[in-house]
Amino acid sequence: MARYTGPMCRLCRREGSKLFLKGDRCYTDKCAFERRGYAPGVHGQARVKQSDYGIRLREKQRVRRIYGVQEGQFAKYFNIADRQKGVTGTNLLVLLERRLDNVVYRMGFAESRNQARQLVRHGHFTLNGRKVNIPSCLTRVGDEIAVKEKSKGLLPIKQAVETTARRGIPDWLDVDIDGLKGKVKAMPERQHITMPIDEQLIVEFYSK
Ligand code: SF4
Repeated sequence: MARYTGPMCRLCRREGSKLFLKGDRCYTDKCAFERRGYAPGVHGQARVKQSDYGIRLREKQRVRRIYGVQEGQFAKYFNIADRQKGVTGTNLLVLLERRLDNVVYRMGFAESRNQARQLVRHGHFTLNGRKVNIPSCLTRVGDEIAVKEKSKGLLPIKQAVETTARRGIPDWLDVDIDGLKGKVKAMPERQHITMPIDEQLIVEFYSK
């Protein structure tokens, strides 16, 4: 299935919560969800009682959209998480957090995961000193991510770095914001994922 290229704010309105897909704008009063916090379309304001299936589907879609992962890839992550030891829902979120585009975003080098994905795709980062352009690449403890020397002057990266404080950097990452580089010092844990997510609903969705 092709990647969604329509209006991002529409996704937040559909999912009924802020997904922070547009970087700095999400923190301002220009946020479409703040102004029209109901579903898009002519029936958007109608009261709809969701079925149990609908609730689980929406949670799965919401998390998929937060991380910008396509349906098939998301199902693959779930299968990997299900085979791993521990709690499947937590395993799934940890896998999503370990994606290179998410790590670049969490390190503060991009304003949103979408932007991080594009910057990685265009080859503006190195992983352990080698050029990388695969946003879905899973990072490991000890991995070093850096902005490429030639890309240090890029406006989107400069702007993202200026607004890092607003988004915060999680404990599992060690970031040298002036040097535009960082290191994965530990695996992310459930408490590092601060967006309100009920991963158990996703497990139930795939277990039906
Ligand atoms: Fe969602 Fe950001 Fe648009 Fe607000 S501005 S609706 S949080 S993408």
